[in-house]
Amino acid sequence: MRENYEAVIGLEIHCQLATATKIFCNCPNTFGAHPNANVCPVCLGMPGVLPVLNAKALEYAIKAALALNCTIAPLSKFDRKQYFYPDLPKNYQISQYDLPLATNGWLTIYTEEGREKRIGITRLHMEEDAGKLVHAGSDRLAGSSYSLVDYNRAGVPLCEIVSEPDMRSGAEAAAYAQELRRILRYLGVCDGNMQEGSLRCDVNVSVRPKGSSKLGTKVEIKNMNSFNAIQRAIDYEIDRQVAAIEAGERIVQETRLWEENSQRTITMRVKEGSSDYRYFPEPDLPPIVLTAAQIEAYRSALPELPRQKRQRYQLEYGLNAYEANLIADDRSVAEFFEAVVATGAEPKPAFNWIMGDITAYLNENKLKITEIPLTPAALGEMLQLIADQTISTKIAKDLLPELLSQPLAGTVKDLVAAKGLKVMTGAELEAIVTEVINSHPKEVEQYRAGKTKLLGFFVGQVMKRTQGKAEPQTTNDLIKAKLEN
Ligand code: ADP
Ligand code: ZN
Ligand code: MG
Repeated sequence: MRENYEAVIGLEIHCQLATATKIFCNCPNTFGAHPNANVCPVCLGMPGVLPVLNAKALEYAIKAALALNCTIAPLSKFDRKQYFYPDLPKNYQISQYDLPLATNGWLTIYTEEGREKRIGITRLHMEEDAGKLVHAGSDRLAGSSYSLVDYNRAGVPLCEIVSEPDMRSGAEAAAYAQELRRILRYLGVCDGNMQEGSLRCDVNVSVRPKGSSKLGTKVEIKNMNSFNAIQRAIDYEIDRQVAAIEAGERIVQETRLWEENSQRTITMRVKEGSSDYRYFPEPDLPPIVLTAAQIEAYRSALPELPRQKRQRYQLEYGLNAYEANLIADDRSVAEFFEAVVATGAEPKPAFNWIMGDITAYLNENKLKITEIPLTPAALGEMLQLIADQTISTKIAKDLLPELLSQPLAGTVKDLVAAKGLKVMTGAELEAIVTEVINSHPKEVEQYRAGKTKLLGFFVGQVMKRTQGKAEPQTTNDLIKAKLEN
């Protein structure tokens, strides 16, 4: 049944900009403060106060828009969006309506088939966040005996980013939201924490018969707080709509809530049209005027973005697409990796160490790569010592915990020498091999009688006596040579 339909999905993403202060006043923009601690007459909507645009918020929004390939409007303005709700102290939200800051952008996702796909971005505009209602004994108004309001969030700067209806599955929508968050994090303009609400996704879903170019009636879904939930909510909603149409019902345009507990969407309210908001120009804020030179200055200051890094890692470093995606996910990890490669290390082992043992350590200790004493220079040196067989991989693994947890006094080479961890080869190793063979005459006899898998036993004995310092290939060769003549 579902295979006769095509899903159409568009996302509206609200991201809180990581400025120090709110968008129109000097109150701190911090999460988790005591309720109503971060407020002043401006963000409480007292009569007679005047908003002043936070220049940093504008800068962050411009950077986001440029990174999303949008066209920045030389002139944009703020508008009042009127609605009455206790979380909105002024009874209107300052937003942007007909002249948004930016339009007409795109970003690229990878589909499940591994193809690149461009998702259009309709517009990006600035607005202020509303306060937050805390419903006693429930996460919703329904079922709660009273509600409290916290205006700390009122006036937090937001960027709303509206996509074109270009996605066709829950997985594509999740990939879009993830790439968007990655770009915002690269820019340092939004921390993207979905649990704390710094990035909130409203999802629009409709279905239509395959081959049709007419859009079906859409339903908006709110309340997903992970990428996984976005994907599941959409897939659930597609199935629900297809089943309804097949049963002869009509889809009602409405807003639905994703219920994490029951894994389904439920009706919240029938959607209001934009005329209900009585938008009109905000008289207390001047329009935003940007010259071409200003816009170009922002553009040229953009950092290298995730997609560019992924492409470069494949072309210059020979990583495959999967590896490039993985290591470019986080900007600080990507930069650490690049710095290691810049010391002359081979990209592939650098990738393996960073995404393997180092990432495991970071996850275990809830640390970021910028918070550990290990420097790219030290990791580069360690990789060099492995490459020239001064130390074995085994020794490097033993060394790593110290490098990850304690600042290095001298070089990695000094540490190897101080710990006596240098790989053992040559006469020293040969003497131990001889010793091992001489003290196991029975096994030697069995080996010579054809039980050649005993080679592993001898190697093990040598490793034991050298505490893992024996160079594995040389050890193998020496043992074989001695047993076989
Ligand atoms: P509204 O006025 O209801 O907010 P918009 O036209 O502004 O609707 O679109 C909001 C979001 O919904 C956009 O991301 C857009 O791509 C998406 N969208 C619009 N129409 C559809 C549809 N028929 N099916 C799925 N998504 C849609
Ligand atoms: Zn304030
Ligand atoms: Mg809209």
